Formats: sequence, structure tokens, C-alpha cells
Amino acid sequence: MSAPIPQQARSKTLRACLLCSIVLTPADFRKNGCPNCEEIMQLKGSPDRIATCTTTSFDGVISVISPENSWVARWQRTSNYVRGIYAVQVKGRIPEDVEAELENRGIKYRPRDQTDQD
Ligand SMILES: [Zn+2]
Repeated sequence: MSAPIPQQARSKTLRACLLCSIVLTPADFRKNGCPNCEEIMQLKGSPDRIATCTTTSFDGVISVISPENSWVARWQRTSNYVRGIYAVQVKGRIPEDVEAELENRGIKYRPRDQTDQD
């Protein structure tokens, strides 16, 4: 016999990308990187990058993403923005080097913690 695992506990094993807020297992990030921002985040095969660029501190998940509502989609082709599970709120910031890389591309970083909504 085994008791069902509460959703809250199970979510602790998942991580959210600090940039696009997609939610995956650490193994997914390690194997494939972030499906949306791997070009900038470079998580693939790098537990260190995964530790700094993704977080377990996120609230709420939505299963459908509206690309037109995503600021990330503005700098990506919409077709590249994968369908998946996304966190509603992500705590934490991307590392400075990633923020600098975004700036190099003329993109202003917006934290996903909803303190900077427009
Ligand atoms: Zn991402």
C-alpha cells in the first residue's frame, strides 16, 4: 500500500526555468536543456547551469501557454515556443551573465515574480 503523493510534495522535484518559466524535471533540463531558451541559458548537460538558471521556487502551473502573452515569445518565433507546463509565478532572477547576454540582444529582462508587470 502507498498513499498518494500530494501535488505540493511532488512539485518539489520539478524545476522552473527562470527565463521562460517552463516546468520540467531536472533530468529533462539536463538531457535537452530548456526547449525555449537553451540558446541563451545553455542548461544541457550542465547541472551547475541548471542549479542557477532554474528553480524549485515557483507557484501554480498552467498547462497551456498563450504565446502572444509571453514576453519571451516576442524575441522568439512563436512556433519555437513549446507547449508544456509553465509556472504562473517564479521566484528568483536569472544570473547576471544571462541578463547581460539578453541585453546584448537588445532584450530587457523581466523577472517572472510578477513584480514588474505591465
Ligand atoms: Zn527557458
